[in-house]
Amino acid sequence: MNSAIARLPIPLPPLSNETLDSYLPRLAQRNYLARSGGLFKLRGTELRLALHQLTGVSDIGLATALPQVRFSEDRERWPHLNLAVSARAPIRPACRLCAATRGTGSDTKVFASHEQVICQQHRRWVGAGILKCSADQQFSIAPVGEVSRANVRHQHLIKTYGRGSTHQRFHDAVAALMHWHDWPIFARDPRIQQRRNQLRIQAASSTRDPRDVAAWYPNAVAFTALLLSYDRASEGHTGMQRRETLRSAVDRFELDVVVGLRPSGATSPFIALLLANDRQATTNEHAEVEVADGRRHRCRLAY
Ligand SMILES: [Zn+2]
Repeated sequence: MNSAIARLPIPLPPLSNETLDSYLPRLAQRNYLARSGGLFKLRGTELRLALHQLTGVSDIGLATALPQVRFSEDRERWPHLNLAVSARAPIRPACRLCAATRGTGSDTKVFASHEQVICQQHRRWVGAGILKCSADQQFSIAPVGEVSRANVRHQHLIKTYGRGSTHQRFHDAVAALMHWHDWPIFARDPRIQQRRNQLRIQAASSTRDPRDVAAWYPNAVAFTALLLSYDRASEGHTGMQRRETLRSAVDRFELDVVVGLRPSGATSPFIALLLANDRQATTNEHAEVEVADGRRHRCRLAY
């Protein structure tokens, strides 16, 4: 590729946070380029320059939309990239409606941070990270405003407590709620009941049904908030102070997270999470997470 490269007849721009494995083939397909062509052999700055020439998308536009052609020096030139989704984040299908507006099929893939479970533009549940959702399973959350509000709260937690700590505690909260998912008291929580009705969920939904996940996502965010505030409140506490903070957290759980469920005993996931905090086991921001291909990895929770 060189500076004389011609603009493509159909210069498709990438979707926000699209992977190269998604973008390059669809750009090639729409323009009848061979998959064995030069474009697919380029990497790094050469690839970004070629894409700029082929599509007319600006350098900053490509660095913003495509995490895999973004480089460390770009963050100094364009500070907004410090908040952008990284290429280490899990991959999920793009919102089908976003993809359709760009003339793209349902196989379009994007990198997504753990809180990017909703397409805010189309008010659709798209899932992310451990809350997986296939393109075919995406659905409207328009009837359930509480899910969108919980997502705003989730973003606020990231601003307040940091991305790594919030991701870790959200992961903890989701794992614990999945533990309680089939308990009758979980289904009796009036807010979960109401959201399940609004989303027309059958009573026997599994923990992996994205509609059911959306119904208890606000509980997971409330649980995350409780864990993060407990972490902060209990810093430096010992003895009686720590017991008081723990009792207050249990009271709040019963009111704010799952109504009527009062965790007790060291084997309870909730108490185990608080004790893990006491052992400072959650401060290293590493945990096992499931990524898009189904494999499990230990990785740094920084996306
Ligand atoms: Zn969308």
